[in-house]
Amino acid sequence: MAEETPSGLNDAVAVRTSESVRRIEMVKASDYHRRGQIMSLKSTMGRVIGDNLIESRLHVYESFLSHAIGLGYEVCSIPRLWHLTQRGRVQPTHKLLVLRHDIDTDISTARSMWQIEKALGIKSSYFFRICTVDVDLMREIEDFGGSAGYHFEELATVAKLKGLKTREQVMRTLPCMRDLFESNLTKLRIRTGLPLRFVASHGDFVNRRIGIFNWVILDDPPLRERLDIELEAYDEAYMHLVQSRHSDCEYPKFWKPGDPRCAIEAGVGVIQVLVHPREWRANCWVNLVENTRRIYEGLLYSCGIPNRLVARRGSITLVP
Ligand SMILES: [Zn+2]
Repeated sequence: MAEETPSGLNDAVAVRTSESVRRIEMVKASDYHRRGQIMSLKSTMGRVIGDNLIESRLHVYESFLSHAIGLGYEVCSIPRLWHLTQRGRVQPTHKLLVLRHDIDTDISTARSMWQIEKALGIKSSYFFRICTVDVDLMREIEDFGGSAGYHFEELATVAKLKGLKTREQVMRTLPCMRDLFESNLTKLRIRTGLPLRFVASHGDFVNRRIGIFNWVILDDPPLRERLDIELEAYDEAYMHLVQSRHSDCEYPKFWKPGDPRCAIEAGVGVIQVLVHPREWRANCWVNLVENTRRIYEGLLYSCGIPNRLVARRGSITLVP
């Protein structure tokens, strides 16, 4: 399969602060709501093709990382950039490519990506949901010098469990969501033996429908302090360090807002690239299960039926 064609440089080097990102995502959410939650035919077709028919693109992934290294980039984790900044050690000449993985599904492809990076000596960031936790892989990543973190979604989990539909209902239930987050993170730390001080908010269809995101859970300084959380991946203090942000997406576009190679070739100082295993190899069975679950959850939610199964999938501790 041919490699994807780089899109415009302006897209690729777009600078975004956390605040603007949040604002954009809120706009996206309201837009999503206005469109009556209907996914476009084009997007659906892209997802169907990408989930089932596209051959593995892991060789493209490997060549992309090799290309960045060849152009003088240090491919690193979120903690690496954060700690360099805290110590005042980011120089204008630095070329850093922060590589973040959100392991939403497909642990086997996540492991393949990790093997590629390990062979290249890359120490990146991986965030695992409760339903994708792989203790051995998380420990391997940390032992190699990378970072394993928690990809949290308690706000969406509780909203689905209780059938919450409005921002007001969510805000009233926020203490319960924070308790669940605290409980899940604490148990995950015990289970893995890892510090998990870096966390990243997951984006669920429920977040987009309600227009309120999981990171709202961490708009609570005492909770952060109590849990010794160093950073949430969308924190403004971190996001303003990144000059160009890119995320993989489904066939045929593959990158949004544009191909990070444009930024790399332009020599942008600090680039963040967010990747998901699903976009790099079509694991048909995993995708079928995930898509079926998504349809089932969407139906329950649309019909206002509390989703009891989500408690088993989205939490270590059941919501009281
Ligand atoms: Zn996610």
